[in-house]
Amino acid sequence: MLVPQSQKSADPGAALKLRISEIFHSIQGESTRAGLPTVFIRLTGCPLRCVWCDTEYAFSGGQSKSLDEILEQVTGFNCRTICVTGGEPLAQPGCLVLLRALCDAGFDVSLETSGAIDLAGVDGRVSKIMDIKAPGSGESGKNLWENLARLGARDEIKFVLDSESDYAWARDVMERHQLAAICPVLFSPVQVRLDPAQLAEWILRDSLPVRFQLQLHKLLWGSERGR
Ligand code: SF4
Repeated sequence: MLVPQSQKSADPGAALKLRISEIFHSIQGESTRAGLPTVFIRLTGCPLRCVWCDTEYAFSGGQSKSLDEILEQVTGFNCRTICVTGGEPLAQPGCLVLLRALCDAGFDVSLETSGAIDLAGVDGRVSKIMDIKAPGSGESGKNLWENLARLGARDEIKFVLDSESDYAWARDVMERHQLAAICPVLFSPVQVRLDPAQLAEWILRDSLPVRFQLQLHKLLWGSERGR
């Protein structure tokens, strides 16, 4: 899995460095993979500023790590499921190389992305969990709608909603773009700002073909970092 010393000079990714906020082993809290033990690689940096962002600590800082250092660290957890997240991981161009290297090494890889950066270069073996930012995030103007054409059955679309008007907007987007025909669609309430039971009632009332979800890791560990 790790590149032998003798081959490193021929490896185009050998000189690559990525800014990493944290790498940790936890339970996946979101998406259809919720509940699976997963290694998270959180890349530093994000060009968006969602008003309810819960990972502002990943906007800056972190450590510079080589591809080999990252692969060595994630291999040590003895877990085949990896989630590359952020921040916005695709804000670092080297993320595409990392995703490919993780797939080549045999990991089952998902990518959590804001939907604001072109997905064209993402390795086809990666499951893309793409946000569509609702108006309540303050960042809906950054949605890159062309990305919808880059999603397939192995991917997922996620809406994080903080009000009834956000919900109505997401419902309209669902219909207009026929999202349920592309891949699973996830609806989440913004923690504290929208009552989860209320969101569940709206989904049932409208018979929306979406998956309601809560952030499982927050139910387990609150907002503790690295869990
Ligand atoms: S895209 Fe994600 S990391 Fe960036 S500001 Fe929005 S919620 Fe935070």
